[in-house]
Amino acid sequence: MSGALGVVEALNLVLRAAPVLPAEEIPCIEALGRVLQEEVRADADSPPFDKSLMDGYAVIAADLAAGPRSLRLLDEIPAGSDPARLRPLEPARASRIMTGAPLPPGSDAVLIVEETEPDPDDPGAVLAKATVRSGANVARRGVDVRRDEVLLRRGALIGPAEIGVLAACGRTRVRVGRRPSLAVLATGDELVEPDRTPSPGQIRNSNGPLLMALARRAGAEARYLGIAGDRREALSEAIGRGLGADILVLSGGVSMGAYDLVGETLRSLGVEILFERVAIKPGRPFTFGRRKDTLVFGCPGNPVSTYVIFQVFGRPAIRKMIGFADPAPAPVRGTLRGEVRQRPGRTGYYQARARLSEGGCVAEILPTTGSADFASCARGNALAIVPAELSSMRAGEAIDVLLLEDFADR
Ligand code: AMP
Ligand code: MG
Repeated sequence: MSGALGVVEALNLVLRAAPVLPAEEIPCIEALGRVLQEEVRADADSPPFDKSLMDGYAVIAADLAAGPRSLRLLDEIPAGSDPARLRPLEPARASRIMTGAPLPPGSDAVLIVEETEPDPDDPGAVLAKATVRSGANVARRGVDVRRDEVLLRRGALIGPAEIGVLAACGRTRVRVGRRPSLAVLATGDELVEPDRTPSPGQIRNSNGPLLMALARRAGAEARYLGIAGDRREALSEAIGRGLGADILVLSGGVSMGAYDLVGETLRSLGVEILFERVAIKPGRPFTFGRRKDTLVFGCPGNPVSTYVIFQVFGRPAIRKMIGFADPAPAPVRGTLRGEVRQRPGRTGYYQARARLSEGGCVAEILPTTGSADFASCARGNALAIVPAELSSMRAGEAIDVLLLEDFADR
């Protein structure tokens, strides 16, 4: 494909241009979906003391080696008891103990309550009906986590489990990557906002809201700049406003038409264009540039092109900026259901429905009329990738499948 960059090379250029943004410290409770920019170590052993895992009786296992017997009751130990103030257990004795309570000195096992009954001959004793091995139903101090152990690594996504770990370590604030600010600008004289009824010749601007949602889902702080018409002054003014953000995403105006003025307007504003054609289908006229610290994504106007370009290039850039160690999600290897044909020369990204079955990922490419078929994106949950050199792939062949965000829910 003359003048068009391969997808891998283009992605490498985008990722190289995308800076990792400086870290900021925020409350842990607001850190969901952010990326950790520090290492988190345990501040203490866990459990911090030898702990009972069950409700029952703290015993000395050797006492029960010869079979069922009666044990005299010493103490009752609820969770929250101070381990330093417990009376040591002596032979032939048991202390009632609750889940989470510290084990008394001298005891080495917990006999669960189900394996005991009150001693009919002695109200101050319990009948142990089973043997128990030393260490049974006891968590020794530090078995789960050792003090200073690394629990969370830099570059990890913060999900609910990570927020739990931070809390367990006594943390209320955490260092995370800053989110990039991102401005969305739709271009095209034919566009009206979704709340308007298009006049003859007009269509609704679906890319604006689409890109806002894609950007937010990828982790950016998105701001909408509206629609700019296909005139130099209007474009120049609106693009100028967007260049203050970390990322400016445009839709439309990057093809070869007489009114496709985005490329030249970007140049006139000092944007260095790094490439303006990629061997990808859909989305060939994808234009990417940079001015100082601002990245500029010029997506082709066709909604499916915009969608694919953002998924393949925009999302990894945002993920790198917010601190993911591995920003470009790798495709999974799946099995193609049905068949696909294409003209060789461009890597094909097809809307697909992927399912994880026992045999792995199975992907079905969805029927579509082409890159204006905006509804097809809402039917898929993945993009099936057909290498540029192939003209067809048949049912049962192995195929790369890029699982999209929310894949599991769609
Ligand atoms: P362009 O890239 O400007 O040549 O636009 C390609 C096609 O996408 C044209 O049919 C446009 O009408 C359509 N299009 C451009 N911008 C949008 C948008 N924001 N929402 C929906 N369709 C668009
Ligand atoms: Mg246009």
